[in-house]
Amino acid sequence: MKALDELTFDNRFARLGDAFSTQVLPEPLDEPRLVVASKAAMALLDLDPAVAETPVFAELFGGHKLWAEAEPRAMVYSGHQFGGYTPQLGDGRGLLLGEVYNEAGEHWDLHLKGAGMTPYSRMGDGRAVLRSSIREFLASEALHALGIPTSRALCVIGSNTPVWREKQERGAMVLRLAHSHIRFGHFEYFYYTKKPEQQAELAEHVLNLHYPECRERPEPYLAMFREIVERNAEMIAKWQAYGFCHGVMNTDNMSILGITFDFGPFAFLDDFDAHFLCNHSDHEGRYSFSNQVPIGQWNLSALAQALTPFISVDALKEALGLYLPLYQAHYLDLMRRRLGLTTAEEDDQTLVEGLLKLMQNSGVDYTLFLRRLGDESAALAVTRLRDDFVDLAGFDAWAEQYKARVARDGDDTQEQRRERMHAVNPLYILRNYLAQNAIAAAESGDYSEVRRLHEVLTRPFEEQAGMEQYAQRPPDWGKHLEISCSS
Ligand code: AMP
Ligand code: MG
Repeated sequence: MKALDELTFDNRFARLGDAFSTQVLPEPLDEPRLVVASKAAMALLDLDPAVAETPVFAELFGGHKLWAEAEPRAMVYSGHQFGGYTPQLGDGRGLLLGEVYNEAGEHWDLHLKGAGMTPYSRMGDGRAVLRSSIREFLASEALHALGIPTSRALCVIGSNTPVWREKQERGAMVLRLAHSHIRFGHFEYFYYTKKPEQQAELAEHVLNLHYPECRERPEPYLAMFREIVERNAEMIAKWQAYGFCHGVMNTDNMSILGITFDFGPFAFLDDFDAHFLCNHSDHEGRYSFSNQVPIGQWNLSALAQALTPFISVDALKEALGLYLPLYQAHYLDLMRRRLGLTTAEEDDQTLVEGLLKLMQNSGVDYTLFLRRLGDESAALAVTRLRDDFVDLAGFDAWAEQYKARVARDGDDTQEQRRERMHAVNPLYILRNYLAQNAIAAAESGDYSEVRRLHEVLTRPFEEQAGMEQYAQRPPDWGKHLEISCSS
């Protein structure tokens, strides 16, 4: 276990130099205080969890203090936003403080979001408000607990610093951890600004640090791109299987590591709705829940375009062609497991789609339905769950198919079925209204609800005593919350 001053830095991205990032110091928050910290994320840095409660912790992650070895820098990138190219973006309010090595030899970027203005702030103030910082923190740690690849969050630091959005709010910072903060948009930036040397340097950096196994392959860059395609297919399959809607899948928000990145107006589905839109400024529905699948491919094509200096167009196209079949395979595998199936049959896709259509038409809670399906034998469970559906004949027909399919799947005891299904079907997800309750309390200075919700979400598959209120459908007020897109 380490104290805060014992972290070991090796700032490899900073050493790429000024073409890639600009040195900027964090602008401190007034009266910084700990809102919430993740013990699991602290463990990634070998930090003793007790240090979260010390004043120096809030000072470090509230921008007042820096390690001597930190080299805070704002990264430059660009990207396609809602389908159109924006030639220059960059860390407008976040700083890469440096890269830290843990005792296992893993390195983690420390990225402080909400740290003040940078050369890339454009019209923004460089700040992040408390509510969006809490949402990013809870989402990162909740997705990780569900087994969905994601950046992590170490802590949220609150303050008295006034920040103006639709109304006056308070500034906060969230400390994000990831093995890399390089986005698709980094490659696009050097491609479209026609800087081939820097683009090659960036590609070497990513290959050497993050895809070293691809070095051994006949065409290392192609192998790396394939791996990025595969990781994205798997990540998006998990989003779809667990009902996660990202909301802003611009290429500047897509990680080169295939992890969920840059949380904005994201949401988990309550009722199943394929057309669900969590981003209210997305008038065309570009990033609706079901569109996430084709958009994943669109984004990979944008990255492929930026990699044309290194890889032939034919090879890029072939690699892009892997995306959909891989997505399908991962998605179906997860959905089979969520339905309690251990074998594969050709018609399983139809079985899944049939269920989703029924849920869509009846507004059935996606997470709770699948959790309850595992509570009992297939026959008993479908009998109990039948009342949730409006189209009873439709559900009965599906239930007959499902029971027959479960019977063909093989014999196991109800105990085995429950254990297997509950291990993949969460009871607790980060519902918008739960986040909203925690944020309302935090905005009035009470952080206990954020901390409790965080704790519950770190063990989403395990029924926790006294936590029934976190496993409920939203009350009426919490049903179609419009989450502000300002952050
Ligand atoms: P996002 O939609 O949060 O991914 O942000 C898109 C771009 O706008 C990124 O380059 C951000 O750094 C920048 N940005 C967002 N909010 C702010 C802000 N309050 N101040 C400065 N830059 C911002
Ligand atoms: Mg972003």
